[in-house]
Amino acid sequence: MSKVNPFEMAQQQLLDCAKILNLEQGVVEILLQPQRQIQVSIPVKMDDGTTKVFQGFRVQYNNALGPYKGGIRYHPDETIDTVRALAAWMTWKGSVLGLPLGGGKGGIVCNPKEMSEGELERLSRGYIRAMWQNLGPDVDIPAPDVYTNGQIMAWMMDEYSTIQGKNQFGVVTGKPIIVGGSLGRSDATAKGGMYTLREASKKLNFDLKGATVAILGFGNAGSFAATLVRDMFGCNVVAVTDSKGGVYEEAGLDIEALMAHKKETRSVVGYKGLPKLTNNDVMALPVDIIVAAAPEEGAINAEVAATVKAKVICELANGPTTPEGDEVLHKNGVHVIPDFLCNAGGVTVSYYEMVQNMYMHYWTVEDVYAKLDAAMSAAYANVYAAAEKYNINMRQAAYVVAVERVVEAMKLRGWV
Ligand code: GLU
Repeated sequence: MSKVNPFEMAQQQLLDCAKILNLEQGVVEILLQPQRQIQVSIPVKMDDGTTKVFQGFRVQYNNALGPYKGGIRYHPDETIDTVRALAAWMTWKGSVLGLPLGGGKGGIVCNPKEMSEGELERLSRGYIRAMWQNLGPDVDIPAPDVYTNGQIMAWMMDEYSTIQGKNQFGVVTGKPIIVGGSLGRSDATAKGGMYTLREASKKLNFDLKGATVAILGFGNAGSFAATLVRDMFGCNVVAVTDSKGGVYEEAGLDIEALMAHKKETRSVVGYKGLPKLTNNDVMALPVDIIVAAAPEEGAINAEVAATVKAKVICELANGPTTPEGDEVLHKNGVHVIPDFLCNAGGVTVSYYEMVQNMYMHYWTVEDVYAKLDAAMSAAYANVYAAAEKYNINMRQAAYVVAVERVVEAMKLRGWV
């Protein structure tokens, strides 16, 4: 597979939407590029006494609807183009959910798996020292993403608060509960995706009970999704993959046993001596639902899409499908719940976390889930209605709903 440039993919999707909505040239020009891109060098004292300089990015894509919002990734292969694409998708993600937020994304080129806890803390604090003037609860609010977590958010919040001379819990979200986190945030992405899957099953008129599921990616979102599809709907998870490969058991996998195997061996491969499959093998399995939770952008290209037998693809990862892949899936009648709708549960509960931080009043987990369910279900219904109205696929429809709101705000603000 030739490597796709995720930002070109995001731009192509936007141009497609611009045609459907007949957007004027000035609007399209604004939406095709980020408003601001910041790159910083972060010197970190390593445990061996040397100093290493890391590159950090923050892309602030569009803030017509509210402050920039989006995760920060720690990844050895991070590039500005990946961060740009993800920042664009964050803009559409917040908008499609009706959140008063813009879109942004950050990244640091590093390999957290090879760093000590102390090195990671110094790197995270260094990122905030380099970037703090561009961040803030009403400016730009980072959150966890690939290889970042609650502890990293706690260090970032603390560093920012120290610089400001006062507690500023609302500067990042996805924090541990005791320092201003929200209940229900840790599994929010997977949970939100499940609510959209439930809504899709109603529209498509198929029973989730006993439906077979393949999960691609067994990290945070994927592993929560595996237990949630079983516990919420009685689905049968028959295949799971991770970065090393996948396994398939027709009768259904024991998720807890598989998790224990992964904890011990660091992979699902080898579980019960089952043959090792590739991601593409798993995409072609005779299952009802595919949950695409692996962070590989553009993995579902036209060739892979042509092999899909599932009725529904839930895109819990960002950007798993190329525009050509989309066309094939649509032609073959596969219902795609597109990434920035399907995985918007994370940022939605992040927004709830910001609200709770501002009010200094914290909600029960039942409150969070009820609000999340209502928000995700309404967003799904809006997107489905747009797909019917314009006779377009679900991704195009999600773009239509999201872009229309951002454009309306830009016009009211006098940008165009
Ligand atoms: N990183 C997550 C995403 O891509 C969450 C972002 C957030 O909570 O701000 O949606």
